[in-house]
Amino acid sequence: MSHTLLISDPRFIEHDPGPGHPESSARIATVVAALERSPLAGTFWMTPRLATDDEMMAVHARSYVVQLAAHQGTNARLDPDTAMSPGSWHAARLAAGAAVQAVEEVWSGRANNAFVLARPPGHHAEAARAMGFCLLNNAAIASEAALRAGASRVAIVDWDVHHGNGTQHLFEKRNDVLYLSAHQFPFYPGTGAADEIGRDAGTGFTINCALPPSQGDADYGAVFHDVFLPALDRFAPDVVIVSAGFDAHARDPLGEMRVTERGFAAMCGGVADACPRLVLLLEGGYDLSALAGSVRACVQVLAGARETFPSGGGPQAVAAILATRGAHERATRNLLA
Ligand SMILES: [Zn+2]
Repeated sequence: MSHTLLISDPRFIEHDPGPGHPESSARIATVVAALERSPLAGTFWMTPRLATDDEMMAVHARSYVVQLAAHQGTNARLDPDTAMSPGSWHAARLAAGAAVQAVEEVWSGRANNAFVLARPPGHHAEAARAMGFCLLNNAAIASEAALRAGASRVAIVDWDVHHGNGTQHLFEKRNDVLYLSAHQFPFYPGTGAADEIGRDAGTGFTINCALPPSQGDADYGAVFHDVFLPALDRFAPDVVIVSAGFDAHARDPLGEMRVTERGFAAMCGGVADACPRLVLLLEGGYDLSALAGSVRACVQVLAGARETFPSGGGPQAVAAILATRGAHERATRNLLA
């Protein structure tokens, strides 16, 4: 019997980035309501705790954490599309704490795997800068927590339609955290070209698959089979953190991809088979029913179901894969060779 941990909290709704903002509190409310309305066998819920200063400052500059904390209880605009409301700082610390807690529960074996249903999202947040709806980099904070708990190697798989600039930058000089991203390119935030492969000791440990618009389940299947899963196999992570955004869905109003629930479930299953110690963190996804359906499909996979990719990635996906493989030929350690 699978034992899949789900973490969420009503306090995530209290982060309000402003009227009409796509990253609305309705996102988390819709996802959680759908899971509670018809619970999935093999799942259980926990309430999160706040991230500690040490956990946040393992990733973020002390001055940045102090700056965010000063906005507790107030409204603030941090960049053109990132704002804080009176409940935002609490929600952000809770989202980061939930990510750490999920790692701890999975590392200890009390849960087989986990899905953190939190907001605000995290993968655009840099060491000392909020951007792209993100305040704290939850995936990076969770990865540091995994290393602290005893993991030797952590992989971050980022299938959000946007490149996770913050996560890449935080780990690009390291060889103990592998960052894998498939994203629309060129697109917000502008980073994530195939030739961004990491720096210094981390050369070869950042893998970007930069895709044109309109890629679907079979195209993502080609990326996973030809790039992500072989790299995970060679890197042999102790824990995988997924930056699970669902804005590559065909119905998403921001992304321009054509992924369906089946594709997300197949991505989740591929990663789960590569490394069973798996924690999914919610990132983007802005069509409410597509988001709820895709999250549910992934939770079913975490609880033991499996889905396959349709075969036949198209020529644009194949070209992107070749560009990624080509860029890695100059890596110190080529995980794609
Ligand atoms: Zn996104």
